[in-house]
Amino acid sequence: MNKLDAQRQKEIQQAEELLFAGPQALGFAKGLFQGHFVSDWVMPYPRIPAAQQTELDETLRELRQFLDEHLDAAEIDRQADIPRSVIDGLARVGVLGMTAPKEYGGRGFSQMANCKVLEEIGRRCASTSVFVNAHHSIGIRALLLFGTREQKQQWLPKLSSGEQLGSFALTEKEAGSDAANVQMQARPSEDGSHFILNGEKRYITNAAIAHELTVMARTPVPGSDKTAITAFLVTPDMPGFEILEARMPKMGIRGTATGRFALHDVKVPKENILGTIGKGLKVALTVLDFGRTTFGACCTGAAKTCLELAVQHANTRKQFNKTLGNFELVKKKIARIAADAYAMEAMTTVTASFIDRGLEDYMLETAMLKVFTTERLWECINDVFQIHGGAAYMADLPLERMMRDARINQIGEGANEVLTSFIALVGMRGPGMEFKEIYDTMMKPSRDRMSKAWAAGKNRLGATIRVPDVPVQSDELRAHARQLGRLIWRFNFAVNRALITYREPILDMQLVQERIANAAMDLFASTCVLSRLDSEIQFARRNGDAAPPDHSAADLFLRQSFRRIRGFLGALTDNDDKALLATAKSCLAKTAS
Ligand SMILES: Cc1cc2nc3c(=O)[nH]c(=O)nc-3n(C[C@H](O)[C@H](O)[C@H](O)COP(=O)(O)OP(=O)(O)OC[C@H]3O[C@@H](n4cnc5c(N)ncnc54)[C@H](O)[C@@H]3O)c2cc1C
Repeated sequence: MNKLDAQRQKEIQQAEELLFAGPQALGFAKGLFQGHFVSDWVMPYPRIPAAQQTELDETLRELRQFLDEHLDAAEIDRQADIPRSVIDGLARVGVLGMTAPKEYGGRGFSQMANCKVLEEIGRRCASTSVFVNAHHSIGIRALLLFGTREQKQQWLPKLSSGEQLGSFALTEKEAGSDAANVQMQARPSEDGSHFILNGEKRYITNAAIAHELTVMARTPVPGSDKTAITAFLVTPDMPGFEILEARMPKMGIRGTATGRFALHDVKVPKENILGTIGKGLKVALTVLDFGRTTFGACCTGAAKTCLELAVQHANTRKQFNKTLGNFELVKKKIARIAADAYAMEAMTTVTASFIDRGLEDYMLETAMLKVFTTERLWECINDVFQIHGGAAYMADLPLERMMRDARINQIGEGANEVLTSFIALVGMRGPGMEFKEIYDTMMKPSRDRMSKAWAAGKNRLGATIRVPDVPVQSDELRAHARQLGRLIWRFNFAVNRALITYREPILDMQLVQERIANAAMDLFASTCVLSRLDSEIQFARRNGDAAPPDHSAADLFLRQSFRRIRGFLGALTDNDDKALLATAKSCLAKTAS
């Protein structure tokens, strides 16, 4: 391995450590990159068990009633505050400890059921859903996943009941997208009983209202001059904890308290370490996996609201003596929102089921869900905004607020560009390693290498000659399933060609990575839609329903998604990348001078 190769390998390893891709088990998304359709991950479409469904239905009924009566999203936005009465009400319904085990005062809901709860809140008020996510999806998640029994007993009951609130503090001035660059220091005390924390965090949701903060800081690695990130449980009553800004004024999700805080020689007992010392990055990135799943649920809820508002307006507003819904360019927008909302829900449900089934290595799928749903929601809001014309711009309608609120989604919990690049690179790693094995063996043949290269070659060759089977049960979906299988085959071919053509430099080629990641995301989204549709058709058939369910939104999504995939793959060879990069280079050089 030459020096450049070694450096690249190190970078990939660091990227994987950074985003905790885990071992190369063949999950659904990684399977796509190998030309496989890992059907048992996605089919049949997951269902919440009947007993849990009854409990969920009752909870949703209670939640809807509470939200209808007490949640005023416009007022929350105006006042830039979520009233304590709303937080208390959510706590009473159990929302603030939904997935915490019952023994610690939680409701013990599955992630799929929890997503339904978040969808309901996301439908009405983004400030409130982000607040709940900051407390429950990420704030107390490290404690739930990595806490010892003692830590859970001590902290969880009050956090699950909402008597206390949680927060998750990773971001700093120099550690935004580059999450591994945390600078906050944690120095062990001489007697080893505690750590002394110093540094600042910014953009932290709930920072000033939380009673428990999961804080990422750097600890020394024994026997070396290096440091590694460790997760600590910090409470604001610890001497030296200072809120620098409780509520940073901001554009959207204004009801949330986004704050900055500093730690000055804060003594944190060693018993407050979450997980293994030095493994805080793994803690942080695993926590974010959960956050990204509920992100998908909140975006689904908001997309459903877009659809409702769009239909309502298109059916009532008249211009040119017709209601707007008569015009094809309005119909186009409504149909697209309906198709996307259907897909977002399907994708969220399937991804949440990976967590509930205890599958490992779903990091790619949660990243795909986050990027896909946040980008689609932005489009949905843009469409419903346009349908409303000038009225959308006025503050008496919720649309300008929804637009302001939605913009953070593409930035928070991993900027979409960073996740897009991650999806492509981690996905391509499997086939990339196989090609490397073959290439290295050709350059330096050895008996040991030959058998590995033979297996890698067989795998690569197999994927190029075999179109994967997509097993649907409904006859009317076979044509879609065959198209999906062929597109996976084409995708694998395109991935192989990109790897062979560009080799190591592909690590820096984000324009190529984006097309590959976009195609992979649409393949995953189409799969979830097909799986959901298949299950709905089968369910109606078993029920003996006379009229078939309305498939139009799902059918449209599949057609549009397949067309997009063909476009992304086509653009790998037909693009303006050179001109684009030259233009950017020229602009950047001018600005720099
Ligand atoms: C309202 C709000 C609430 C938040 N809540 C929390 C919280 O509770 N806890 C917490 O820890 N953090 C929180 N954050 C922080 C959030 O996660 C970060 O803002 C986010 O990670 C991006 O970091 P940054 O803002 O420093 O942007 P930067 O890292 O400076 O990135 C700016 C832009 O550069 C581009 N970019 C960066 N890196 C790359 C790359 N490798 N390739 C291509 N493009 C790239 C992206 O377009 C990105 O949007 C919150 C932020 C906001 C605004």
